[in-house]
Amino acid sequence: MLKGKSAIVTGSTSGIGLGIATAFAAQGANVMLNGFGDADRIETLRYGLERDHGVAVRHSAADMGDPSAIRAMADDARQAFGRVDIIVNNAGIQHVAPVESFPAERWDAILAINLSAAFHLIQAVVPEMKARGWGRIINVASAHGLAASPFKSAYVAAKHGVIGLSKTVALELAEHGITSNTICPGYVLTPLVEKQIADQARAHGIPPENVVRDVMLVHQARKEFVRVEELAALAVFLASDAGASMTAAALAMDGGWTQH
Ligand code: NAD
Repeated sequence: MLKGKSAIVTGSTSGIGLGIATAFAAQGANVMLNGFGDADRIETLRYGLERDHGVAVRHSAADMGDPSAIRAMADDARQAFGRVDIIVNNAGIQHVAPVESFPAERWDAILAINLSAAFHLIQAVVPEMKARGWGRIINVASAHGLAASPFKSAYVAAKHGVIGLSKTVALELAEHGITSNTICPGYVLTPLVEKQIADQARAHGIPPENVVRDVMLVHQARKEFVRVEELAALAVFLASDAGASMTAAALAMDGGWTQH
């Protein structure tokens, strides 16, 4: 479905981003992976995708908190694949703490990586998408882009901001064959969520073993984590020609959470 296309997926050495990158490669797209981690593990992932799907796959260690590194990553993808047709702004970090003790440095980092990075990558690729008359911008926000939870001031602010950015860009680019949409997942059991369990227990004053039931899935009517493969299938649809008329949307895949 994506044969001949090239994609950058930020934060794709783990979790949701890796799931999306894998699904894109399986559909025939060349992929620029991005993110941190053990170099041997990343090379195994990169090579495995090339071998399994017969596409070109590169990895960039660009820090999404650094605008010049983001621009350099876009240049690297262009050089490696000749074009960038699809971007997925997915890299994200989290910090859970009451607002009065929320570290200012964490606020700045969350806004930079979860929100500003999307702006910088969009800016780096829009000219070539416009020139070609085709492009797909996919942003991974969160149910927290649509609704708030206590102790996540920076994350909720950044994710609401991503939806606003995506909608604005969608309107600006609608007549150029470029769509921009936001996927809003509920809780997915990835390393980002596993790392939160202890902090959530502390912030809510409950034992860690109660966090999944009483905090994470409390509003998720389905009472199950969303699966990475489900989100990846939605991203493939948005990236395909079938997604041409879907733009400026904020698509909840959250087991019913945000409809409470
Ligand atoms: P994860 O921790 O499994 O993966 C995060 C990825 O981002 C990793 O590849 C990591 O190396 C990369 N990354 C982190 N900081 C980076 C930086 N400065 N520069 C470049 N890469 C960086 O997380 P995940 O759960 O897969 O989350 C992916 C996205 O989905 C995030 O934006 C997150 O907010 C969002 N999300 C996750 C959930 C969930 O329940 N897991 C729910 C809703 C939204």
